Amino acid sequence: MRRQLAPPALSDAPLAPGLYLVATPIGNLRDITLRALDVLNACDVLLAEDTRVSGKLLAAYSISKRLQRYDEHVADRETPRILERLEAGERVALVSDAGTPMVSDPGYRLAQAAIEAGHAVFPIPGASAALAALTLAGLPTDRFLFAGFPPPKSAARKTFFAELANVRATLIFYEGASRVADSLADMAAVFGPRQGAVARELTKLYETCIRGPLDVLAADPRFTAPKGEIVILVGPGQEAPVREGDAEAALREAMARLPLGEAASEVAKALGLPRRDLYRQALALKDEAS
Ligand code: SAM
Repeated sequence: MRRQLAPPALSDAPLAPGLYLVATPIGNLRDITLRALDVLNACDVLLAEDTRVSGKLLAAYSISKRLQRYDEHVADRETPRILERLEAGERVALVSDAGTPMVSDPGYRLAQAAIEAGHAVFPIPGASAALAALTLAGLPTDRFLFAGFPPPKSAARKTFFAELANVRATLIFYEGASRVADSLADMAAVFGPRQGAVARELTKLYETCIRGPLDVLAADPRFTAPKGEIVILVGPGQEAPVREGDAEAALREAMARLPLGEAASEVAKALGLPRRDLYRQALALKDEAS
């Protein structure tokens, strides 16, 4: 039977009308704020990405409230109805399966529509796997870029990584367990010898964080068939200027999978060099090879 948590001290202050974007736990059920519980208790409408998943959270806190499905599949149909309820002065709360709504989760279109219609929108901050992983990874935290899920196919994924290769910030990716090994291999190929971290099952019983150079992580047998939920982080690129030979190596790698013009564009973006020069260099490399 699901364990019920001790009833927290709820506020009886009235809840203002508007849309509430409520963060919920990413594993440990106690990672929820008192304010989030206030909103879940007092709202007129409770929208959930998956009503069964959020139903378990409500049961754990003895909140009996009808949940209404809201995900990207029903967004077009439901948004006008939700706007009508906001117009009528109701308090509408949105939760996703875990963590902060809209962070690789539904809600963006609804929030945008509510803002455009002039309704109040309130963030109810709390857990998010991206920030939890960042605090644990041991990588610089002063600048970071959340990049969401990489594309599932290797060629598109490498292009996606190459576009981020020149960003001087810690990069944060979400990844499905079955793709972690492939993504790490592509990261090692595109980002080179940078520090990385793989944070798994955050806030849960088997929470782990494995840190190390990307090539070592890519070869780590623990990531061949991992289970659970995973965030991958990559440390910022070196501030050092581009070395002679870097552009050639990057061009050769990109030309092996892309047409010449696209390879030149990708490397230009990644290394911050003029595309025209790289295109000329790519032509020379092609001539040399033929
Ligand atoms: N909105 C959520 C948030 O704020 O973190 C993210 C939702 S996204 C659909 C799900 C992805 O988040 C997972 O594939 C995984 O990459 C990451 N994630 C969620 N919970 C996690 C956890 N407990 N440990 C590690 N990664 C997690």
